[in-house]
Amino acid sequence: MHTPQGFLPSHVLPADLPPTALVFAFRDAKVAVGGGEDAPTIPTLATIATAGLAGRRHYLGELAGAPCVAQVLDDGTPDVPGLAFVGLRSLFFRLPEPLLALAARAFQIVEWDRTHRYCGRCGTPTRDKPGERAKECPACGYVAYPRVSPAMMALVTRGRELLLARAHRFPPGMFSALAGFVEPGETIEDCLAREVREEVGVEVREIRYFGSQSWAFPHSLMIAFTAEYAGGELRCEDAEIAEARWFPADALPPLPPSVSIARRLIDATARRLAGPR
Ligand SMILES: [Zn+2]
Repeated sequence: MHTPQGFLPSHVLPADLPPTALVFAFRDAKVAVGGGEDAPTIPTLATIATAGLAGRRHYLGELAGAPCVAQVLDDGTPDVPGLAFVGLRSLFFRLPEPLLALAARAFQIVEWDRTHRYCGRCGTPTRDKPGERAKECPACGYVAYPRVSPAMMALVTRGRELLLARAHRFPPGMFSALAGFVEPGETIEDCLAREVREEVGVEVREIRYFGSQSWAFPHSLMIAFTAEYAGGELRCEDAEIAEARWFPADALPPLPPSVSIARRLIDATARRLAGPR
């Protein structure tokens, strides 16, 4: 997930939205889509208005000239003929990538709106802060911005082997790189060293940046690295990890789907290690 090509982000809702504007309208965690099962579409403002759907709007920006809006549908919004409410994950590979990326962006903004209706400091109802993507408290002045939580992913290598782990929550047989959220006071490098040590008891060196991915479940920025094994005995005492093993780069287990940065990180590294020296 990333900013689609040709997308111009903005947070200032235009006074006059055209009926052709695209609306990412969420009821709880589900987004309204039109079209058939095989070819879902994002409804236009005209469709949303005709259906009588109401709720707070946040501007996202323009995609190839089309204004895009995130909408928090009012509680108790009923089902509407011609629109289905579906989970974001069900749209992977069915919605064109730019629209999927914007749906994920809208989801995070809608979730932020929904969880910041009241001031976290004094409990007064908040309001949208003009000119910024922020909620402010009219009583105490506290300002809350959408939350993005940095997380790091580490693929540890040893010679031509990759260190992969299975979390209990994974589908059976699937392995992936190690990952964890950054804690207050840590650098990304600190976090990487700590997570690898805590999860599998291994020390690392030669940390190298690979790439990053926005992930809307719920509001992560996954920052991926490779690192070389520097010592320690493989063990998994971490409650989240079911199993961790070294795999030869040319004999890998089932991996996460290609939509995830984990898969791109593992594929690219395995190709590099399996190649001629
Ligand atoms: Zn307050």
